[in-house]
Amino acid sequence: MTILVTGGAGYIGTHTLVELMQAGHQVVVFDNFCNSTPAAVLRVEQICARKVKIIQGDICDRQALTQVFTSHQIDAVIHFAGLKAVGESVAKPLLYYRNNVSGTATLCEVMAEAGVTRLVFSSSATVYGDPQHLPIVEDFATCATNPYGRTKLFIEEMLRDLQRSDTSWRIALLRYFNPIGAHPSGLIGENPAGIPNNLFPFITQVAIGKRESLSVFGGDYQTPDGTGVRDYIHVVDLALGHLCALERIMDKEGVLTVNLGTGQGYSVLEMINTFEQVSGRTIPYQIVDRRPGDIASCYADPSLARHELGWVAECGLKEMCRDGWNWQQQNPTGY
Ligand code: NAD
Ligand code: UDP
Repeated sequence: MTILVTGGAGYIGTHTLVELMQAGHQVVVFDNFCNSTPAAVLRVEQICARKVKIIQGDICDRQALTQVFTSHQIDAVIHFAGLKAVGESVAKPLLYYRNNVSGTATLCEVMAEAGVTRLVFSSSATVYGDPQHLPIVEDFATCATNPYGRTKLFIEEMLRDLQRSDTSWRIALLRYFNPIGAHPSGLIGENPAGIPNNLFPFITQVAIGKRESLSVFGGDYQTPDGTGVRDYIHVVDLALGHLCALERIMDKEGVLTVNLGTGQGYSVLEMINTFEQVSGRTIPYQIVDRRPGDIASCYADPSLARHELGWVAECGLKEMCRDGWNWQQQNPTGY
């Protein structure tokens, strides 16, 4: 198949390109590089020893998108393009609604005009807000706590409405938990601009000496050691989940909403300990106040993904730390 990958130059996009190409698919990348670089796609070419078609463009630009569909025979779209910084979304909500929500509406309109109705969308566990129970099952109530999360919720609803209006659409809404790590080659990985918002890239930057120490946000949560618990998932496992979702929607009508997580939660202190063991580096840290908006614990019930997609995350926390550290060491200043 030929798959259009919006946001394909980003962290999850590049890892998914590798798995798509290694499974024999053709890929077309469409990205405006607002949070990535074409160099990342060149690394994908290096891993796969194949050229990738890269188109620089914005998903809000209808003409540019239409051009992609008229000049390529696209079978399905994996839609990663979006802005994802929670703090920035609070400061600039309209930017997030325009980029993420309007951009997705434009993409779907252009897809419909081109007769392409297979779509895999990057949603997030953030749509569960602060869950009442754990592990999190897909039919739990949704409730976003910030504009970024609301863009994911609105897009999910918009795509369900779209499918109700035209049942030829086949859509997978993938709710990611916490992707970390990197491709084992060390050629692609997460490359945050500025100070990392997320735990794992912050830890690797402390380990490489780029940052002095880690602030652990809160030591008084209702968790075994008082620090926040999350379901970290190896980005390659996550990428493979997209291939399974793509295969699934080719022969099943409707909207499939599914968690992509391991089902295992780890605390911040467990993460630090595992990373120290794997890397042999010490991570200096201090426990500080909670980060506003954070929840205590979040981990998936991954059974639906197993039943519906035949997909299970294979990698454990040590492999995530090993591969993320390998990427950081090989690329101390990113791409
Ligand atoms: P990323 O920022 O690395 O990748 C997103 C890509 O989209 C970037 O290459 C960026 O340049 C591109 N992009 C953004 N707006 C665009 C636009 N208007 N037109 C064209 N390209 C545009 O992020 P990622 O971590 O790879 O995340 C991919 C998707 O998964 C996002 O939608 C994100 O919200 C979602 N997600 C990520 C996480 C995570 O922890 N990384 C968790 C849950 C959901
Ligand atoms: N965290 C932390 N220090 C940091 C970044 C994150 O202690 O510099 C904690 C955060 O409070 C949460 C966990 O690490 O408990 C995962 O945070 P991240 O931002 O990576 O993911 P999210 O909160 O979006 O699940």
